[in-house]
Amino acid sequence: MTTGSLYEIHDRRFGNLIVGSARLEELHSGCRWAEGPVWFNDANQLLWSDIPNQRIMRWTPEGGVSVYRQPSNFSNGHTRDRQGRLVSCEHGTRRVTRTEIDGSVTVLADSFEGKRLNSPNDVIVRSDGSVWFTDPTYGILSDYEGYRSEPEQKTRNVYRLDPESRELTAVVTDFNQPNGLAFSPDETTLYIADSGASHDATLPRHIRAFDVVDGLSLARGRVFALIDKGIPDGIRTDIAGNLWSSAADGVQCFAPDGTLLGKILVPQTVANLTFGGPRRNRLFIAATNSLYSIYVTAKGAQVP
Ligand code: MG
Repeated sequence: MTTGSLYEIHDRRFGNLIVGSARLEELHSGCRWAEGPVWFNDANQLLWSDIPNQRIMRWTPEGGVSVYRQPSNFSNGHTRDRQGRLVSCEHGTRRVTRTEIDGSVTVLADSFEGKRLNSPNDVIVRSDGSVWFTDPTYGILSDYEGYRSEPEQKTRNVYRLDPESRELTAVVTDFNQPNGLAFSPDETTLYIADSGASHDATLPRHIRAFDVVDGLSLARGRVFALIDKGIPDGIRTDIAGNLWSSAADGVQCFAPDGTLLGKILVPQTVANLTFGGPRRNRLFIAATNSLYSIYVTAKGAQVP
């Protein structure tokens, strides 16, 4: 392993994914807990959540930082669907919403089997329009990132929302705290982080991989990678199928076979990340108080 001030190279392949001369840029500070970055290429902007401050923030290369939405219902993870609409997880209202092009908000999911969701955390949309999201209890554990409440669900599930019928299906029910999620570029594998160790060191701090069966269900769950510092929260894949995970020491990059390739060391605990910029080769990193970015050679798999 080679350790520098910015990069840890664990495998030679990592050298092809990073720009050696690139440096970490702090684009903003002053958040309480930065999360949920999502890139809008058509608007040349990044949105992300500052959960305890009830804000969705906006950054543009020309205009810098402004508040996009406040109050945000303690929004957490975001993504965009194939029509470019913002899809958001909200702790405060315990729901997943879609912001329409005209700015109105549509509720996509807020209950399962007649009981309220826990606190949706992170979300992705498959190319068929189905919406997949995680539902741990972080947003109801205290009044800091939502509203303290007893869970109504017995388990912390991962859900699939059917784009036609709007039916919600629990696709995995045995996680401790399901968190970030990402599809492989061909969408045949779904990666899901379990961050249970955040509140109990004996609980999981790993990312599991599942086969996606007919775009509907998951099979053959296995541990894909273990995070050695802190927990995995948000995760993303690049077009070569490498997986980039948040961790306490920065961003950790794993090959499709689960090998740790290397790390980008970040001064604060990383909660989430996304690829952005016109060529999707710029990592935006939500890390505790700050939003950072760094150019890489890798390109994000997620479109748009
Ligand atoms: Mg998360």
